[in-house]
Amino acid sequence: MDPLRPRHRALAQGTEVDRYLPTRQHPTVGPWCFLDRYGPDDVTSSDGMQVGPHPHIGLQTVTWLLEGEVVHRDGLGTTQTIVPGQLNLMTSGHGIAHAEESPVPHPRWLHGVQLWVALPDAVREGPPAFEHHADLPVVELGPSVRATVVVGEVGGTRSPAIVHSPIMGADIRLDPVATVSMPLDRVFEHALLVLEGDVVLDGEGLALGTCVYLAAGRTEIALQAASVARLLVIGGEPFTEPLVMWWNFVGRSTEEIAAARSDWLEGTRFAPVHGASTPVMSVPDLPPGRLLPRRAG
Ligand code: MN
Repeated sequence: MDPLRPRHRALAQGTEVDRYLPTRQHPTVGPWCFLDRYGPDDVTSSDGMQVGPHPHIGLQTVTWLLEGEVVHRDGLGTTQTIVPGQLNLMTSGHGIAHAEESPVPHPRWLHGVQLWVALPDAVREGPPAFEHHADLPVVELGPSVRATVVVGEVGGTRSPAIVHSPIMGADIRLDPVATVSMPLDRVFEHALLVLEGDVVLDGEGLALGTCVYLAAGRTEIALQAASVARLLVIGGEPFTEPLVMWWNFVGRSTEEIAAARSDWLEGTRFAPVHGASTPVMSVPDLPPGRLLPRRAG
């Protein structure tokens, strides 16, 4: 099995994450180009998540919580609190800024994932948008196994979330001693991340925090759990456009990224985010030379 080994990163203001995507070998899984997992953290005596206003281009952000509460604010004027089981989906198009912060007061625990989906060329210069989905479909995959369909389709049930390429994302919960065969789209590549407990995939044990890459061509995965387990499964058609990723931007060239950076610094393109209490994120310098496209391994 092909593991996606996470790198540990400190985000602004104390939140630490394990970053599973991108890796050198797997810059994308379908159009999924970024995957961070954080927590579970006891945030009783801290400010919790404090991600100040920052810009995005060329992507959708997917916020998915397992525990806790986060408030999203963006340049469209959105203020949206998210709790576990709900989806915040922000489409940057040509450009949007947002902030994500724990409310005051907030629950004790904070645990979640943050993902980005690269937008295909045909729509990536479009207008920004934000969607909140409080009532996602849940599919019974078998006895004691339920899948919340976050984006795309699982077992014929489709999420209402608007996406722009063939893609899926689901949160699978297995009760003790559950066994299931989950159908996969054979043209998709997939990744599977263990969010809670541990599972056996095709006879091999995967511990909490393990993420594995599954190449296209599979039509199902066989899962077993001895105790309660939760998994994130993401997938999509292999994404062939050459992505240039830097800071919070996903583009196709150094020039595009540099233009987004200077537009943000000059206060053009990105409507301001109002109401956040965390300071605006500082902007790093561009590295010298050209930014290189990430290619599939
Ligand atoms: Mn962001």
